[in-house]
Amino acid sequence: MRAALFEAPGQPLVIGDVETPKPLPTDLLVKVKNCGICGTDLHLSAVTDRSGGMAPLPAGAIMGHEFCGEVVEVGNQAPGGWHEGDRICALPYIACGQCLECLAGRGHRCHDAIFGGLGQLGGAYADYVRVGGAEALALPDGVDYQAGALVEPLSVGLHAVRAAHLRPGDAVLIVGAGPIGLAVALWCRFFGARHVVISDLLAGRLDKAAAMGATDGIDASSENVIGRFKQIAGSRPEVVFDCVGVPGSQQLAMDYAPMNGRMVVAGVCMRPDSILPVKAITKELSVQYVYMYERRDFELALEMLDRGRIDGGAMVTDVVGFDRFSAAFEDLKTPSHQCKILLDPDV
Ligand SMILES: [Zn+2]
Ligand SMILES: [Zn+2]
Repeated sequence: MRAALFEAPGQPLVIGDVETPKPLPTDLLVKVKNCGICGTDLHLSAVTDRSGGMAPLPAGAIMGHEFCGEVVEVGNQAPGGWHEGDRICALPYIACGQCLECLAGRGHRCHDAIFGGLGQLGGAYADYVRVGGAEALALPDGVDYQAGALVEPLSVGLHAVRAAHLRPGDAVLIVGAGPIGLAVALWCRFFGARHVVISDLLAGRLDKAAAMGATDGIDASSENVIGRFKQIAGSRPEVVFDCVGVPGSQQLAMDYAPMNGRMVVAGVCMRPDSILPVKAITKELSVQYVYMYERRDFELALEMLDRGRIDGGAMVTDVVGFDRFSAAFEDLKTPSHQCKILLDPDV
């Protein structure tokens, strides 16, 4: 099968021919229909040592964890009652299925979990991907394959918004209009925020924000973010989300937050950062870090997509085949108007 192979840190991915994965008896083999390029993969492809908290990828690794596809083979002990031809997306890991974390829908905390796209288990920048029967979720009829590939990033946003304990009518500021920021905007709108304001240094990125649920956008390159926010909402935001994840972004979110405010750190910063704690102390801020999602996040995202209550389609800025995939991956390393680019192996 074809796959986009990691060769060395900082090097472009190479499209090559590799052996199709062999599913274990409890697994499914899935024909990949769409797979999104994630910021995590961009970071991961540059990791050279363990200092950022992640191990460098081995040569030949296949990334890609935001995917959906069609089941083409079902292991004879695979849980879930799957059949060939079923349309699915999946949690991007295979876990034991029996420990307390697995039973609670948090298989990513399972001690036996192996993660798709991190070198332990092949990811979905490929024609086929191996999926655990217990980790697969059916795509309802109302969810097409492009939407199916957005379930993972939408779940990241949902998990972050759950952690914010949003109250009806809250004014929200989202720092960063990348895929995570847009997914957070969508769910803040869904759960009844009065103002969903998103700021970014690249004004072009704000174009998509309205279609994803933002009520206003602030161009942080030319506008005073908190000054403009107060004009819009009449006060500081009750909740601030850091959806950037670079050194300095947590401090910004802290500065924007009000007295007794809530702050959620959803951007994943893998470099050392320094903050001035007294800023958070004097405001008595509640700061919540979030990571990944739970199975219930996937389930709610799927159901709301199926019923037409949410639509994440505006986040997709390009769909590419293997011929353009490596170049698209490189382009995303420089922030631009591009947001979510999907691989479609059949293009
Ligand atoms: Zn992702
Ligand atoms: Zn487990």
